Amino acid sequence: MGTNKNIVVGSHVWVEDPTLAWVDGEVLDIKGEDAEIQTSAGKGVVANLSKLHAKDMDVPEDGVDDMTKLSYFHEPGVLHNLASRFALNKVYTYTGNILIAINPFQSLDDLYDAAAMEKYKGRLLGDMSPHVFAIADASYRGMIDERKNISILVSGESGAGKTETTKMIMRYLAFLGGHTFVEGRRTVEQQILESNPVLEAFGNAKTVRNNNSSRFGKFVEIQFDNRGRISGAAIRTYLLERSRVCQISDSERNYHSFYHLCAAPQEEIEKYKLGNPESFHYLNQSNCYQLEGVNDAEEYLAIRRAMNVVGISEDEQNSIFRVVAAILHLGNINFSRGEESDSSVVTDENSKFHLAMTAQLLKCDIHVLEDALCKRLMVTPEEIIQRSLDPLGAAVSRDSLAKTIYSRLFDWLVNKINVAIGQDPDSKYLIGVLDIYGFESFQSNSFEQFCINYTNEKLQQHFNQHVFKMEQDEYKKEDIDWSYVEFVDNQDILDLIEKKPGGIIALLDEACMFPRSTSETFTEKLYQSYKSHRHFIKPKLSRADFTVIHYAGEVQYQSDQFLDKNKDYVVPEHQDLLSTSKCSFVASLFPPLSEDLAKSAKFSSLSSRFKLQLQQLMDTLNSTEPHYIRCVKPNSKLRPLVFENMSVMQQLRSGGVLEAIRIKCAGYPTHKTFPEFIKRFSILAPEVLKQECDERDACTMMLEKLALRGFKIGKTKVFLRAGQMAELDSLRLQE
Ligand code: ATP
Ligand code: MG
Repeated sequence: MGTNKNIVVGSHVWVEDPTLAWVDGEVLDIKGEDAEIQTSAGKGVVANLSKLHAKDMDVPEDGVDDMTKLSYFHEPGVLHNLASRFALNKVYTYTGNILIAINPFQSLDDLYDAAAMEKYKGRLLGDMSPHVFAIADASYRGMIDERKNISILVSGESGAGKTETTKMIMRYLAFLGGHTFVEGRRTVEQQILESNPVLEAFGNAKTVRNNNSSRFGKFVEIQFDNRGRISGAAIRTYLLERSRVCQISDSERNYHSFYHLCAAPQEEIEKYKLGNPESFHYLNQSNCYQLEGVNDAEEYLAIRRAMNVVGISEDEQNSIFRVVAAILHLGNINFSRGEESDSSVVTDENSKFHLAMTAQLLKCDIHVLEDALCKRLMVTPEEIIQRSLDPLGAAVSRDSLAKTIYSRLFDWLVNKINVAIGQDPDSKYLIGVLDIYGFESFQSNSFEQFCINYTNEKLQQHFNQHVFKMEQDEYKKEDIDWSYVEFVDNQDILDLIEKKPGGIIALLDEACMFPRSTSETFTEKLYQSYKSHRHFIKPKLSRADFTVIHYAGEVQYQSDQFLDKNKDYVVPEHQDLLSTSKCSFVASLFPPLSEDLAKSAKFSSLSSRFKLQLQQLMDTLNSTEPHYIRCVKPNSKLRPLVFENMSVMQQLRSGGVLEAIRIKCAGYPTHKTFPEFIKRFSILAPEVLKQECDERDACTMMLEKLALRGFKIGKTKVFLRAGQMAELDSLRLQE
């Protein structure tokens, strides 16, 4: 914005602040390039003029419901607008057609009830106050009227409200496209809605960031027939967090399903020989067992009811929970050193009991189970050797078995729900809803964060291209030449990650196939390959870390588990054990590998599979008209009415909202209709109003008189460059 000639003594401004991001104040004096400011909190600050932003004094107390209505379109203006609305429980705000949703962390009376749904039905997007229902309604109308496929992309960091928002969208779509209720008959939309609690029970957990955190990504495609009724659905899930099954940090919990089961009716507890969750190793690594406001016993029954609705039979339900119980028992098997060096055995009575229970519940042979945990077959060209694992190795083997079983169980559920709901082969249109993890940057970042942030790079690119195109369309509509609006693409970061050959994923796969690789040889290879890459840094004090400069910020990844986590393979002993289970349900989770596949020992990599899944998702998204919802977490205490500026800014940045604003600012961020413009600025050129001319000419004359440069006059609106609105206002102030 250059010299900031719009700021004069008496101007109201925003000045940067280390804790509050921005504070407002008034300019008392200007000396050279420095302004002396008195903040509204009464503090004196001196700041360089170029660092200040003019504050719009005409914004109403409760803000504006669409950011594009802000006369001054800049960071502090956007932040202030959100904060003032949030204070009044107005949690939704548009930025053009992007919806920003701030988690209220309290139930807001009648915001989501049936009457609210009625209110939004069939109304135009801008007619009513911003709402997730308005986006769902616009999506549905767009689909029916323009015969288009639609996607709604919900994003935000953990705890920002994505899943709740997604459920609201699904509820609203069921309201619009639902069938009349027939007693005793399940409707498709009921099944779709009830799939949520089932998947949440098995794929959600309490974390430090969210008491009901989804540990997987989800894309639900809702299909409609030619009368606009819901006729089918397909659910795709992404990357369930496997490590949680056997490892949790304090104050977090494992997946809800384990605690639900431990609170099941007595009969089941006895059948599965369960007890207090405190008695299971996979649960007692953390001191948190109960969740405020959640009754696991009731949840258990509710989940079984939801399973009934979704179409999971009683028998299948029993098998599912039997497997969950088996995993708990499996976790309690400990290993001691055997007679031979480096071997392990199950000796203590407790472990023996749990070993027997695991075998019984999985319906497999106890000795084969013990061997599968404690031994490995080594195949050499000459012979097959049985090698023993030491107690540590056996424990790793046990955990990997638990993780494999649980993730297969989860995939089974998703598949089952898809089959039960059914796809409509004749579906005419669809609305897809994406609820996927937002950008993550923690103290320690591993393979999961790498995949998550890769996803977000992909979605960011999609978002940028879309926002850019929307701007372009607006200019076209108004016949405005806009050729010099440029926008930064993140393609080079994506290349760094996914390019074949040579990208990080390709190098990781290569390392995984090479038996002698270690995380250090892997990172060494990265350092060599990307020495001078703009988005790659070798951290100074480490030999196994690497840093990627993502669009949303730098993230330092610890590579030590990358190789293991990337190997997508089931130990053959585990595979054999379970595929021969006497329980057909368990066996069905482990279908025998085809001969070829088993022989070729072809390496399968999680990141490559994920890359493919992501590409399919992008292809789907690219064939739809997207609607974006950016969820924002107002504070890390999960409390109502607390608004933390810094963190909100960071989220707006990583959610691409600031980038959207930047793209807008690179063009003509202020669009004012001719009458609006005349009303606001006629005071600066009163003589123009006295002339006989149309509004368009009047605006042109006013702008010419004021010697502004670079603005454009469209068919119905004046388009101003960034900062020009403030410039005009400061002239008004001097009048
Ligand atoms: P994660 O990435 O961890 O899955 P998320 O973005 O899906 O997080 P949610 O589980 O949707 O977050 O929301 C977290 C919590 O915030 C909810 O359990 C609920 O208590 C509260 N919450 C979210 N949205 C709303 C809302 N619109 N009204 C009231 N409370 C809400
Ligand atoms: Mg969620």
